[in-house]
Amino acid sequence: MNTAPTTNINRQPKSETRPLYPQRPSGKWHNRRVVFSIIVLTLLFITPFLRIGGQPLVLLNVLERKFIIFGIFIGPQDYWLFGLTMLSFFVFIVLFTTVFGRLWCGWACPQTVFMEMVFRKIEYAIEGDAGKQKLLDKARWTSEKILKKTFKNAVFILISFVIANLLLAYVVGTDALFQLISEPLAEHAPLFTGIVLFTGVFYFNFAWLREQACTVVCPYGRLQSVLLDRNSINVAYDYERGEPRGKLHKDQLRTEGDCISCFQCVAVCPTGIDIRNGTQMECVNCTACIDACDHIMEKVGFEKGLIRYTSENVIAKKTARLLTPRTWGYAAVLLLLWSALGFIVATRNDTQTTLFRAPGSRYIEQADGSIGNLYTFKIFNKTNRIVSPDIRLDTPKGRLIFAGSSHLTLDAAGLTEGTVLILIPKSELKKRKTALKLSVYQRNQKLEEIETTFIAPEE
Ligand code: SF4
Ligand code: SF4
Repeated sequence: MNTAPTTNINRQPKSETRPLYPQRPSGKWHNRRVVFSIIVLTLLFITPFLRIGGQPLVLLNVLERKFIIFGIFIGPQDYWLFGLTMLSFFVFIVLFTTVFGRLWCGWACPQTVFMEMVFRKIEYAIEGDAGKQKLLDKARWTSEKILKKTFKNAVFILISFVIANLLLAYVVGTDALFQLISEPLAEHAPLFTGIVLFTGVFYFNFAWLREQACTVVCPYGRLQSVLLDRNSINVAYDYERGEPRGKLHKDQLRTEGDCISCFQCVAVCPTGIDIRNGTQMECVNCTACIDACDHIMEKVGFEKGLIRYTSENVIAKKTARLLTPRTWGYAAVLLLLWSALGFIVATRNDTQTTLFRAPGSRYIEQADGSIGNLYTFKIFNKTNRIVSPDIRLDTPKGRLIFAGSSHLTLDAAGLTEGTVLILIPKSELKKRKTALKLSVYQRNQKLEEIETTFIAPEE
């Protein structure tokens, strides 16, 4: 039995080897990723334009703490909903990673998709494959080098600008973005400054930072050592089959394993690691090494799949177990969180109203025989549209006199507060403390029911 390569999950990338020149990947898995990336990019670009009931499908306005997720508005006062949404998202990531490893990183993460499927492909198209890029970087500054470098960086800046606009569309919405485009820039100086700033950040990220965004900056990569276990599916080298490694010698009986030490898996790796050293924190599961090794296996007449999607237990013990007690535990927690989220969303009102008797106030006896109590109220608009709430008394009979206008209007996620005098005929009041039932309406639609108490003089 062969020895498992050390699992270097916390190993740091070798910064002295940068910049990296990964070879252009090709093969079955790469083609699948290209198709999937086109779907991801299409979704990324069309999502800000999608609407449900006139509202954006997704809005992530971190500046004003307003979020819309699948048409559900989460405003600054929805801290419960926001907290539960974040928590369930986190548990989902943990569960998904425990079972499927870093599938997200390799296939759907915008950083990988833009880096490998957009920027890297442009680089290959302009400067050629890895060898040519290396030569170009080492060459002196000729007109050809100036032309290629200028053209490449101009395209990089242009795409970074597009991505910055896309980010803004998610944060402020497409309407605000179109306003920025169509109106004089001076009127939208902060937003325009944001776009310029993020264009710079994206350009720096995709032109220079590259794989370090995954291996040094991204916290998700650093969590791998606690999230992955021996049953997690990952891109892995089958050391049982591959070791001991050895060059291929024609016409000689092979006594080594199937790895012929060609280093093709290393040459294509965008993070510059050797997958044969075991699962590593820097591996973004991009599948490039699977394709590279399969090409080699095919060439030398060995069975493909020396590097493949598999788990440590399959390689070492030939046992596959996707669902372990740990994953069942995470799934149960996730189910609980989703149920709580579903309940909160289903029972959620458009407004959140509080109505309390004004501090220090007593009942007021009116000349017409009715009794008055003074209240202060606050109404939060929990939607992303204008709401005109109307507070009405359900029981007992009585009337409301608002200080100021009774026509209330709340902006999206807005708040209004005021004072209201509630008058109730004495005949309706049987005891000193009476429970009042009120409702908040918008036209004839009941938005919310509220309760409070009413104080009357002792009989
Ligand atoms: S590509 Fe395959 S055969 Fe070549 S070094 Fe890597 S694991 Fe070994
Ligand atoms: S080791 Fe393989 S899957 Fe991991 S990043 Fe490198 S090429 Fe991609």
